[in-house]
Amino acid sequence: MIIDAHVHLSEDGKWFNSLYDSSLTKLLDSLEESDIDKAIVLPIAPFIKNDFVKSVTERYSEKLIGFCSIDPKDSKGLAELKRCCRSGDFFGVKLHPRIQQTAILDSTIGSIIEMAASYDLPVIIDAWVYPHDTQGIQVIDSFIFLSSEHPEAKIILPHLGGFMYKSMPRVASETKNIWFDISYIFSRFNMDLLQREICPVLEKIGYDRLIYGSDFPEVGIKQYKQIANELFEFLNWPDAWKHDVFYRNIMRLIYM
Ligand SMILES: [Zn+2]
Repeated sequence: MIIDAHVHLSEDGKWFNSLYDSSLTKLLDSLEESDIDKAIVLPIAPFIKNDFVKSVTERYSEKLIGFCSIDPKDSKGLAELKRCCRSGDFFGVKLHPRIQQTAILDSTIGSIIEMAASYDLPVIIDAWVYPHDTQGIQVIDSFIFLSSEHPEAKIILPHLGGFMYKSMPRVASETKNIWFDISYIFSRFNMDLLQREICPVLEKIGYDRLIYGSDFPEVGIKQYKQIANELFEFLNWPDAWKHDVFYRNIMRLIYM
């Protein structure tokens, strides 16, 4: 079983101002040709609606799992989160501080994490952030702070921490409730650099804290899975470890 724990969809198939195809047809075809069993659809409030995600995950419940997203600047955000958590239609919460223009340590983000934790749902917080998104506090320390402030929360940092990937082993060692998705980052390096730069980071964090995802539509689902497999091969990881990264770690977090 393989789950791609990081994909995006949009109603009109357009992905912000890019030429990427984020249509449902493209996603389903890509999963099919890549032998991927399920994908987690991540909306980004307010641009992609939770009810749209609900409608597609209901229609394709064998294939698609939905997270909800809350805009921290929306005064009705927490009410919307409560509605989503109670509905049982969503298995986690997505926040994107950079696109949502909210500082990581903004108190609303804390409240969202708190409520998600009370429903036992993981929160994925985009980690491709800039220093001004963190109220002057080091980005890395902000995530470590969030983790210690909310020890009952399950936090996922996508893209292996983005351009701060080298610091993620420290985040892993100083926290117990942060996991790392490995989406997108592989597409930024060639194989030689991936082996030299990224593999040591994967090794230090450890297979038990890593979650597979692609970041469709910005990367091809099939190509991305191939690169991941090549890297796990290079690392000489046993099948059981790969199975944890491709499937079990995320399943444990969403308790399906
Ligand atoms: Zn993404």
